[in-house]
Amino acid sequence: MSTQKQADNARSRETKTFDVVVVGAGFAGLYALHRLRGLGLSVRAYDGADGVGGTWWWNRYPGARVDFPSAPFYGYTFSKELLDEFDWEERQPSQPEVLRYLNFVADKLDLRSDIQLSTWIEEAWFDEQAERWHVNTSTGEHLVTPFLLCAMGSLSDTNKPPIRGIDDFAGELYHTGRWPQEDVDFAGKRVGVIGTGSSGIQSIPVIAKQCAHLTVFQRTPQYSIPAGNRPVRPEELSDARENWEQYKANMAVSSLGMPYPMSERSALEDTPEQRDALYERLWQEGGLHMLFNSYFDLLANKEANDTLAEFVRGKIRHIVKDPDTAEKLTPTYILGTKRQVIDDGYFETYNRDNVALVDLKTDPIDHITANSIVTESGEHPLDILVLATGFDAITGTLMRLNPRGRGGVDLEERWQERFNSYLGMMIPGFPNLFMVHGVESPSVLFNMPLGGEREIDWILECILHLRAAGIGTIEPAPGVDKAWSKNVDEAASQTLFHGTDSWYSGANIDGKHRQFIVHLGGQAYFQHLKDIAAGGYEGFVFGPAASEVLEASGG
Ligand code: NAP
Repeated sequence: MSTQKQADNARSRETKTFDVVVVGAGFAGLYALHRLRGLGLSVRAYDGADGVGGTWWWNRYPGARVDFPSAPFYGYTFSKELLDEFDWEERQPSQPEVLRYLNFVADKLDLRSDIQLSTWIEEAWFDEQAERWHVNTSTGEHLVTPFLLCAMGSLSDTNKPPIRGIDDFAGELYHTGRWPQEDVDFAGKRVGVIGTGSSGIQSIPVIAKQCAHLTVFQRTPQYSIPAGNRPVRPEELSDARENWEQYKANMAVSSLGMPYPMSERSALEDTPEQRDALYERLWQEGGLHMLFNSYFDLLANKEANDTLAEFVRGKIRHIVKDPDTAEKLTPTYILGTKRQVIDDGYFETYNRDNVALVDLKTDPIDHITANSIVTESGEHPLDILVLATGFDAITGTLMRLNPRGRGGVDLEERWQERFNSYLGMMIPGFPNLFMVHGVESPSVLFNMPLGGEREIDWILECILHLRAAGIGTIEPAPGVDKAWSKNVDEAASQTLFHGTDSWYSGANIDGKHRQFIVHLGGQAYFQHLKDIAAGGYEGFVFGPAASEVLEASGG
């Protein structure tokens, strides 16, 4: 819609003004709201969901759990009280448990009065003269604000694969990332799952136990490792509470924001026997430690990586009884360069009589009918189809909103050739629009609750700086985005990530730019953010406050 049409549309709506509008009420949105309110700013958070929780509101598919290691550390770090008063129950908390935590936080911090749920942000455009963002909501409001803080989540724009006939399917159709509130009854049903990323691999064992028959449609096999989920021990909770400062200090130096010291040993320093003994111990223990805390060079050195990849391949061949199925389940890409998956009995599931695997590499889907998936080799009748096909990650949600920045240029046009940003925080030509976990920030490859806190702290400090100095706008200076993209590319090229098609590089969405969109700098990235602020926001340009602009133009 053109800016003029948007403005006309806005005039017929109820107008509300805020110092900051926050989009999203997940981990990041709740924290932003809390902090901004604490600074005395008028702020409101909007979310399309009917409850708080963001990702954890929508992803309520069976088996959904945290993969980050682990409770009680998958949570906010800014408040010891939150840690002290919430008793995590499971080491890899389930989706309902994380949602319970976020609801506890919303109540404890008394956030609900400033959150508007069931409200989608539908349009946003920047009025250059008044230096205000205008926002239209699905509930008929028109919001006016100098600052738009987009905390919409990295994995929220679901990917419905463009398979011929998908809309003809007349059975029950679900996407893991938009799972219904009500329980889905799989009993007696023939179920198909497309996709074997984290969501597919977490849900498949649970669905298999409930349904009459499950067919898994796999495009790429995964190096899934056991989650090792178990109840959190009371002594683990008290240890975290008593030694909180030490755990925070660990997080402050860990390249991934982890609460534990990371290994400084190369996989190639150990003998094969020593390596296998370590891998075996970590396999039994479960969790992402196996990748991140065994050896430091697994994601940087192919030879080192091969040692763990071969270990996991051996486990798959050992667990899966049918050699043909085991072969189809055995991955060959570089371990860890797609998002590492952890599971609860995934490979064991293929030993069940009611589970079949279709390898789409050798038997691709031709089309979907009202009651089946037809692959090259034949028809697979289904009552329920589950799409575990992931997301248009990181860029998708903002692109869908398609805000209009300076000169009426919208984001689709701005990102026509490449997703560009400065610091992963701001987009050239979009003044005062901040992203959290945005494109070219560490987002999904850092402890997300912690990374969100740090990014939001930076944004807040920036807003305070602008207000104190009477500055109207901040935006990236011309050209800095190119240097930033180069920096992101260089960091990725020093790792093994470049060799694999993944959603980190846009490869999962037809027509998406093939560009590595995650900054791998970890702690160095956050230090860089601090340095930029301390140095007077190098790389940004400031605009005078709107009143001065109007005076100068005789307005
Ligand atoms: P995903 O990792 O992108 O996996 C999508 C799966 O669908 C892949 O197996 C993909 O195959 C397949 N696929 C996509 N399009 C297809 C098509 N047209 N035909 C056949 N197969 C197709 O998505 P996800 O599992 O939802 O996970 C996304 C991310 O969310 C994760 O990587 C993780 O960061 C996060 N997540 C976290 C947790 C957790 O913390 N516990 C749980 C779930 C998700 P290819 O691999 O061949 O593309």
